[in-house]
Amino acid sequence: ELEVALKVVIVGDGGVGKSSMIQRYCRGTFTRDYKKTIGVDFLERQIDIDGEEVRLMLWDTAGQEEFDAITKAYYRGAHACVLAFSTTDRDSFLALHSWKLKVENECGEIPTIIVQNKIDLMDQCVVGPDEAELVARALGCRLMRASVKEDVNVGAVFRALASRCLAD
Ligand code: GDP
Ligand code: MG
Repeated sequence: ELEVALKVVIVGDGGVGKSSMIQRYCRGTFTRDYKKTIGVDFLERQIDIDGEEVRLMLWDTAGQEEFDAITKAYYRGAHACVLAFSTTDRDSFLALHSWKLKVENECGEIPTIIVQNKIDLMDQCVVGPDEAELVARALGCRLMRASVKEDVNVGAVFRALASRCLAD
C-alpha cells in the first residue's frame, strides 16, 4: 500500500504562532520563545485518515516572512496550506488576503484553512467573529479557531486538511 505524503505550508505574519503550531503538532511541546525548527525545513507527523497512512510534512519559515523573503522552494509542491493569524494582532488578520494571493501565485488553488490562533487570549481579541467569517468566506477558505498554547484544535486543523487532500 502506498503511503500518502503531503507537504503543508504554514503562512502568516511573524508572531502569529506558526512555528509553535508545527512544534506543538509534531513534538507535542510549547515554549514561549520558540524561534525556528532547528536546522531543518520541516517537521513531520504520521496520521491515520480512515485507515489510510498519511505523512504530513509541515514546512516552517525561519522568520523570512517578516521580510517578505520566502523563497519559491518553500512553496514548491505544496499540497495544502494553513493561513494563520493571531487573535491579538489585527494587522495579521488584515494580511490574510495578501498571504492567500502569495500561496495562490506559487501553488495554484490548494486546500487552505484559515486558523485564528491564540484564542486563549480572547480577552485581548481585536478581530470580530463576524468579520473573520466574512474574510474566510471571501477567500473561499474554512475558518478554524485554535490555541496552540492550550492545544485546542491544532490536531483538528491538520486532520481536516489531510482529509480534504485525500478527497480531492
Ligand atoms: P511565528 O513567528 O508565526 O512562527 O510565531 P511563534 O511560533 O514564534 O510564536 C510567537 C509567540 O506567540 C511565541 O511567544 C509563542 O509562544 C506565542 N504563541 C504561539 N501560539 C500561542 C497561543 O495559542 N497562545 C498564546 N497565548 N501564545 C501563543
Ligand atoms: Mg516562526
